[in-house]
Amino acid sequence: KYITIKNRIDHRAPNESDFIISEETISLNHDKVVVFVKNLYVSIDPYQINRMKTHSCSQQILPNTAAILPGQAIDAGGVGRVVKSTHPDFKTGDLVTGLLHWGEYSVIEGGRTLEKLDPKLDLPLSYYAGGVLGSSGLTAYGGFFEICKPKKGEKVFVTAASGSVGMLVGQYAKLFGCYVVGSAGSKQKVDLLKEKLGFDDAFNYKEETDINSTLQRYFPNGIDIYFDNVGGEMLEAAIENMNIFGRVAACGAISEYTDNMKKAKPDMIAVIYKRIKIEGFLSVDFMDIHEDFITTTVHHLQTGKMQAIEDISYGVESIPTAFVDLFRGNNIGKTVVQITKE
Ligand code: NDP
Repeated sequence: KYITIKNRIDHRAPNESDFIISEETISLNHDKVVVFVKNLYVSIDPYQINRMKTHSCSQQILPNTAAILPGQAIDAGGVGRVVKSTHPDFKTGDLVTGLLHWGEYSVIEGGRTLEKLDPKLDLPLSYYAGGVLGSSGLTAYGGFFEICKPKKGEKVFVTAASGSVGMLVGQYAKLFGCYVVGSAGSKQKVDLLKEKLGFDDAFNYKEETDINSTLQRYFPNGIDIYFDNVGGEMLEAAIENMNIFGRVAACGAISEYTDNMKKAKPDMIAVIYKRIKIEGFLSVDFMDIHEDFITTTVHHLQTGKMQAIEDISYGVESIPTAFVDLFRGNNIGKTVVQITKE
């Protein structure tokens, strides 16, 4: 069983009815080099919506952001167990991570998107499925330290702060010694940020009528670093409130993914005179610091300095709802689907 889209989803929020469950019998007899993987956890990520559109610049940039076509299995980060392999580097029973499929099994020709997984003791396997020890973690770590180049005491603003990337950015920033404010879409999320994740402050952006004055209230001395997960009017208001030589980490623009009318129009004159640096990046840009990221993050998790909140649902059938819930703001923390218990 695997998930496919019925049609392209262009500039609107996705619905469960956009997806179908397809079934196919896999033959384990293959004369090619193939790794057959039983999927354990698959990652559910907002960027997939850009792959489901008829046109999106993301589709041309990287092989794993290529267009997703109706009827085609949807590749996504995950963790699985090898059930059969004709590849010399993988054998039956190996635990692997890499690009799997939104389904029960993944058939990986050439095995090129897989890596053997050597899980750190006592940390859940799900953490490697795009989560705190996967792409969200690397995005937060690399985005904050390499792109934002923080200094202790600087004032940091993070949007979608209770989500997979945002919650980690805020925690790295606090552990580093910054002052951190997050925005999120419900009281429950705001309470989590302040009470469990150690943010200095947080607000529910859905209750604010004028985001510009909200940011003035939370940052009376201005913002030094804005970690942008949402784009749109939040980016415009953050630019208004940035300090001289501020940095904007352009990580994601989820408010724009499903609505073409929401595209941010930041005040470029302010950007120039305040010498603001706005830099886009992808998690794959940080492979050279991957080892450092894993060592540091595992230490923070094992010593209880950092929390990894997960939003886990069960079974292939739950994938469409898990995905559309990202755009409804229904998830808290990293969205993962557990396909099966071992
Ligand atoms: P999240 O876990 O943060 O889930 C998405 C969250 O976004 C929702 O829970 C919701 O929270 C918020 N949201 C949804 N729609 C809107 C909207 N219209 N306006 C404002 N907020 C909205 O997802 P991730 O942490 O995985 O991803 C966060 C961002 O980072 C995304 O934009 C994603 O594309 C990007 N990203 C970029 C990567 C890179 O390599 N550059 C890698 C991974 C992610 P709320 O209730 O607070 O509104």
